[in-house]
Amino acid sequence: MRLLKEFDQKNLMEIGQELHRFSTDLYPICRSITGDGIRRTLAAVQGRVRLKISEVPTGTQVFDWTVPKEWNIRDAYIKDARGKRVVDFQQSSLHVLNYSVPVHTKMGLGELRSHLFTIPEHPDWIPYRTSYYQENWGFCVSHNQLETMEDGEYEVCIDSTLADGHLTYGECYLPGHLSDEVLISCHVCHPSLANDNLSGLVVAAALAELLSGRDLRYSYRFLFIPGTIGAITWLARNRDNVARICHGLVLTGIGDQSGFHYKKSRRGDAEIDHTVAHVLQHRAESYEILEFSPYGYDERQYCSPGFDLPVGCLMRSVWGTFPEYHTSADNLDFIKPQQLAQSLRVCTAVVDVLENNRRYCNLKPYCEPQLGKRNLYRPTGGEAIGLEINARLWVLNLSDGEHSLLDIAQRSGLPFPAISDAADVLRDSGLLSVVPEDVAAETQNRKVAGNVPKVTSLR
Ligand SMILES: [Zn+2]
Repeated sequence: MRLLKEFDQKNLMEIGQELHRFSTDLYPICRSITGDGIRRTLAAVQGRVRLKISEVPTGTQVFDWTVPKEWNIRDAYIKDARGKRVVDFQQSSLHVLNYSVPVHTKMGLGELRSHLFTIPEHPDWIPYRTSYYQENWGFCVSHNQLETMEDGEYEVCIDSTLADGHLTYGECYLPGHLSDEVLISCHVCHPSLANDNLSGLVVAAALAELLSGRDLRYSYRFLFIPGTIGAITWLARNRDNVARICHGLVLTGIGDQSGFHYKKSRRGDAEIDHTVAHVLQHRAESYEILEFSPYGYDERQYCSPGFDLPVGCLMRSVWGTFPEYHTSADNLDFIKPQQLAQSLRVCTAVVDVLENNRRYCNLKPYCEPQLGKRNLYRPTGGEAIGLEINARLWVLNLSDGEHSLLDIAQRSGLPFPAISDAADVLRDSGLLSVVPEDVAAETQNRKVAGNVPKVTSLR
């Protein structure tokens, strides 16, 4: 499978516009960590890929956490003394402190102020705030909006419910030849925020769509889950199966115009870490590799010490570092079709490396085999060799059963597809044989033996 090659034959802008359209459809929905907002979002994803939906009851113990009550909201507003809605949930789902308990009362501005959240340094923007684990209510408003509110009595109403129900998540499983899995995870719990939430979601759904129905080496598992509690719940329910996860990526914040950032897995030298670094080096105009840290997105859970899964996080802007983060300015204008499409392209290149990163043995290791008589060399002596022949020489030289094609790509400085194409040609000419998967796994096990925690993949 050469996913990137296929992808590059399509119109990048059209792909980007379609990703942006899907984001636009999902944008108005008021999502939270539980409730109908997530269900509606997952139903939209289900229209594109086969998604298994799980509902986990409130009160379920998941490691040190408990699945919370389910939150749903129909309406919310603040009305002034004339009965005019001065803050209206129907205008933006961000206006309500996410997980607000129901309230319907009247109060003066002084008392109301303690329930209002603003960002004075960006007076036009509405902040995104939550109160998941502490019962509270509140409104998020632009600072300018607050400034226009006069003293007097206001009617406040949050028509929400917080009651026993379920936590919902979606899973798309694509079986491959190996039961070993590639995990792609994104959070789907933010209301009207585009980069932080929707960008990862639409790119993950598009990648799942691209991989559906294909002949795959690995099995792929896409998780569309509420952040933190969703990942914790999924891990608690799948504790015995996570050793199958050989490679994983959290996708988030990949629609804005920043360069790429890849945060390494806790292991720091997992195949996914090398893969993404290699792909970004060859496919991204600008990128930065970040060391693992215990704060961030759901890689925090996948890389918790009991699991220590090889899962990194692919982003453009890093959480918390851009002013639009968790505000109404992280909107549909903040994410761009071109950037969404390029992010999907990087994901296809990552999948290509994982799918084709095999180990080979040179069957004629004593001196160079004569490539000319096999039509694998340049016809005229004296000319410089090009990329193709150079890649063949590298593959022949380093195919000792130990080096993977990615190792060879990194050592040679050549892009992975050139190395992978060279391996195909050399194998077809009888000069290489592929190392069977189980032997390759054992070689890897020997390499990592000694620092393997109890619940980890060994490949
Ligand atoms: Zn967030």
